[in-house]
Amino acid sequence: MILQTEKLTYKYPNSHGHTAVDQADISLHKGETVGLFGESGSGKSTLGLILAGLIKPTSGMLRHNGEKISAPYKGAHRRGIQILFQHPEISFNPALILLKSMTEPYNIYALPYSYSSLLEYLKHYGLYEEHLYRTPAQLSGGELQRAALARILAIQPEVIVLDEPTSMLDVITQVQIMNILKDYQSKNNVSYILISHNRILCEKMCGRIYKVENGVFTEEYGRPTDK
Ligand code: ADP
Ligand code: ADP
Repeated sequence: MILQTEKLTYKYPNSHGHTAVDQADISLHKGETVGLFGESGSGKSTLGLILAGLIKPTSGMLRHNGEKISAPYKGAHRRGIQILFQHPEISFNPALILLKSMTEPYNIYALPYSYSSLLEYLKHYGLYEEHLYRTPAQLSGGELQRAALARILAIQPEVIVLDEPTSMLDVITQVQIMNILKDYQSKNNVSYILISHNRILCEKMCGRIYKVENGVFTEEYGRPTDK
């Protein structure tokens, strides 16, 4: 088991007692895609933020490879669990050209790269030299989301929380992103948590789905474990 939560609960400080995530018990195995499906406001993104180590749960426990972890993550937990947001610009410094942003993970994790290896790598994400000298504002939503994904995959995480990764994108770019994710998973055995309000997308991508209603996460049984 890569990730496991026990009675994970979160109340926003200003929420007047409302429980955004209510005692969630979630599990994620190596190489699987698990869906968190539910209406807007049901608590999916909040759980995603907790899993990614960006907010601390009010109560409950989280394990990564059996080890108890708490935010902010460090070391292998930090590198191993990544999040892709609906709005990719959140992940980029608006003042930096793409080239700078793309070299960040290599520098942070001391991974080898060269300008030409980076160019070669980014080709797979439909990004070329012409894109490298632009700031996030000068890139399209699709280009920026592919760049965000390329940046995450460069460090080979074990888990990626995908928070409505394609809801802002046109259909062609949606398919590109999903194909990149599927292709990467087939080669690297990475695990995904797909947060989506789109039932069809969840059924297509996920082996298991948790239905989310008013902060309560319920696993749906009886689904084929396709990939
Ligand atoms: P979903 O991702 O399913 O749309 P969220 O996790 O974003 O749902 O929201 C769950 C609940 O928490 C909602 O009632 C929402 O209004 C509330 N919420 C989300 N973000 C905040 C915040 N920063 N402060 C207070 N309440 C919040
Ligand atoms: P956007 O929607 O972000 O403006 P486009 O969908 O028009 O971008 O694609 C930009 C470029 O990326 C196009 O030349 C497209 O053909 C190219 N591209 C090629 N293969 C891929 C891929 N696997 N993923 C993403 N983009 C790709």
